[in-house]
Amino acid sequence: MVEVERSERGCVVKDCLMLLPGRRTGFGDIVVEGDSIADIRLRPQTAPCTTLVMPGLVNCHCHAPMTLVRGLGGGLPLQRWLEEAIFPVEARMTDEDIHAGTVWGAMEMLAGGTTCVADMYNGKTYPNGFVEVGMRARTCIPGLSIVPGRLEECISGTRSWNRWMREEAKADVYMDACIHSEYLTDEKFCRGLADANRELGRRLHFHCSETRREHEECIGRHGKTPIAYLADTGILDRGGYAAHCVWCTDDDFRIMAERDVTLVHNPTSNMKLGSGFARIARAMELGVNVALGTDGPASNDNLDMFEEMHLASLIHKGLANDPTVLSPWDIVEMATKNGAKALGRDDIGELAVGKKADLCIVDLDRPHLVPALDLPNLVVNSMHGSDVVATVVGGDFTYDKSRAGAEFDGVYVGMEKARADLLAAVRRLGL
Ligand SMILES: [Zn+2]
Repeated sequence: MVEVERSERGCVVKDCLMLLPGRRTGFGDIVVEGDSIADIRLRPQTAPCTTLVMPGLVNCHCHAPMTLVRGLGGGLPLQRWLEEAIFPVEARMTDEDIHAGTVWGAMEMLAGGTTCVADMYNGKTYPNGFVEVGMRARTCIPGLSIVPGRLEECISGTRSWNRWMREEAKADVYMDACIHSEYLTDEKFCRGLADANRELGRRLHFHCSETRREHEECIGRHGKTPIAYLADTGILDRGGYAAHCVWCTDDDFRIMAERDVTLVHNPTSNMKLGSGFARIARAMELGVNVALGTDGPASNDNLDMFEEMHLASLIHKGLANDPTVLSPWDIVEMATKNGAKALGRDDIGELAVGKKADLCIVDLDRPHLVPALDLPNLVVNSMHGSDVVATVVGGDFTYDKSRAGAEFDGVYVGMEKARADLLAAVRRLGL
């Protein structure tokens, strides 16, 4: 049972275990004032405790509206999956459908302790879904050369959305720069966006070297890997975050470290689509920041960051025949502070005084979480998203399982209406 003492200035989350910066654990109270952590009062633990507070999780690669097509086309390889299962349905999606999918995806993430997401999708009203649910987000307009006028749309859409957000909406949902990928975006587009981004100053969200075919075809086209080619266009000059990077070389990793490009590891999606295993331990050795993402719910098929932590923790040990590869703390940091760094932020991703009060609160009074002998190990290897009982974004309890029937405080429509909207959209799409 989470004990929260509320006051006019904020609240105190009392008597909790915590995952703290510097790979420490602690026990005590977290004092929240306004949208930030005002104090962390540590003291020796004298009695059993069933509440764990960790930093809100940062999902660095997602396509939230794809809740509409959750699990569709399972068993197909990436190109056929896109062309046969996903693209035909996406072509029929209206703004209203996309909005319903975004709200539902954001709610799923909040219910699993994710407080900030980097999300890539198209649609005029699409980022509003995150605003309405009360989640932090970095969205984008996917750069695609085949869509006429898309470069101008990316530049002016990003500029006007960010101005509106800064001056009027004042939520934490901003648009970053984006190209879908090297293979769907030509050189003219990349150079044009790179020029505009000198003024926009946004980090770049993109898919990179997800499949062997994509990686090798780029070498055939340009004589360079996708990372080397993109670096030469200038589009990585403001840093960014690259999803997948399964086939990246050591030289690619060196470029990423130098250009402040984070590798976003998506283990579930890469296994489901048979893409392979990103060499994240090697990337870290070469100085690359590694974060985690779920990818979209069509290739995952959920948005549970605890599952991504668990898989990221296990698969690289198995591949290397070495249980010392990637410690539980390495993995926890990928899902929290490394994710914050990917998005160019130092105000989220850690429980520390002065940081935003973004909290993921877990009830440890569950059979699979007792005894709690080693907290980071418990988080990575035993915990599920469904163990989260409350999620706090900037001091607001946007999700609280104890408020039966009103778990999602920030959602403009409430859970029943959001579910009805989603299912209506699914029906309209003929699924
Ligand atoms: Zn993706």
